[in-house]
Amino acid sequence: MKYKSTRSDDVTESIDDVLKKGIASDGGLFLPETFPKFKEDDFDKCLSIKDTAKVLLLPFFENSLILNHLDSIIDSCFYFKIPAIKVKNRNCWYLELFHGPTAAFKDVGAGFLASCLSRLNTGSEPLVILVATSGDTGGAVAAAFHNVSNVNVVVLYPRGKVSSRQEKQLTCWGDNILSLSVEGDFDSCQELVKSIFLDHDLAYKYKFSSANSINFGRLLPQSIYYAHTSIDHFRRNRKKPNFIIPSGNLGNGLACILAKHMGFPIGKIVLALNENRMIEDFLNGEDWEKRDTIQTIANAMDVGNASNMERLIDLYDIEDIRREIVAKSISDIRIKQEIIDCFDETGNIICPHTATASSAYRDLESSYKTDDWIIVATAHPAKFETVVEPLIKTNIDIPSELKKILDKPSHSYSINPTIPEFKKIILANLH
Ligand SMILES: *Cc1c(COP(=O)(O)O)cnc(C)c1O
Repeated sequence: MKYKSTRSDDVTESIDDVLKKGIASDGGLFLPETFPKFKEDDFDKCLSIKDTAKVLLLPFFENSLILNHLDSIIDSCFYFKIPAIKVKNRNCWYLELFHGPTAAFKDVGAGFLASCLSRLNTGSEPLVILVATSGDTGGAVAAAFHNVSNVNVVVLYPRGKVSSRQEKQLTCWGDNILSLSVEGDFDSCQELVKSIFLDHDLAYKYKFSSANSINFGRLLPQSIYYAHTSIDHFRRNRKKPNFIIPSGNLGNGLACILAKHMGFPIGKIVLALNENRMIEDFLNGEDWEKRDTIQTIANAMDVGNASNMERLIDLYDIEDIRREIVAKSISDIRIKQEIIDCFDETGNIICPHTATASSAYRDLESSYKTDDWIIVATAHPAKFETVVEPLIKTNIDIPSELKKILDKPSHSYSINPTIPEFKKIILANLH
């Protein structure tokens, strides 16, 4: 399988280069020239998520130098449970993607990419992974790459716009992880990362890559849990599940859309947004134009311009996208109310991101509620205890992995969002 850029069909790369480069030389995002189409019986023998992962990934890695490592790569990123928990008296499930080391779904993609890159980078030059984060990505990437040899990670996060437990997960590592607290928002962090890829001075000295969801190596493994969950649901219930997905940069949502197009039994896809509602407005007919990020209590979704929209628009006809996918923006007030109502009605404690999806479920027309709906639970509520605990007036138990991180000391540098300042700190810290 060959990969092209969203900005030109002439760029063709192997999967190994796609993973290492992160972004195409023309500034576009990588996509396979064509996606495989699977049939239901291709997965007959797949009982576990690891079995499904193997069959799904093979065509993408057919020419890869690390093809023979695929089993161990899969083992290293699907070792925690990903259960779909039924809600009593409703045709609805919470798909818990938050049982990994940093208690958010991003552990899957970050773990997969780290596993691939550590096996691919056998040269002498260390690889520098740049990651802009609105809260959860940086922690997942830092956890996945911490002490991986021959790789350095630079994490950029917007100062004061992440929760204190998230900040801890961004700054507790040291060693090969450099954490930068940026005086700006997520989009300014993302702009800094993009600018470095186009910088010729630094390209001499370092080999850069990106671990944001613009890296196809983060996106692809996320399709696996949609693939496996949908097959498993279909086997048990003979109904295609529909998914509601809390979305920001659209990595998780696009992974579900890709799984559906590869042939998995997935019904409707609803993207739940916070007040950053650009995707909803676009699906309702507006142009895709840059907007400023609005700060909300579902901060890992505080993204003004979802990067993966470039992939979606490249892959499908806009009218088809508008017909097939629905997006629903949920205000902070409704997020808070949903956290309370969900706890009162079901006893489930959900994080603010999951609450956008859970709230969007309430808005479905009643005729849809006879269908099966899977609400994607993207983070553990203990990461957002300052929002959730006062609402439900209950303390949330901290998962043991998260507890380990909270006990470590922090290290970070503060910078302004300017390219010279960013370059200076890279040059001073990475050798
Ligand atoms: C990153 C994140 C999201 C948004 O996911 P995208 O792939 O950026 O759309 C939603 N919820 C949580 C908890 C996250 O960390």
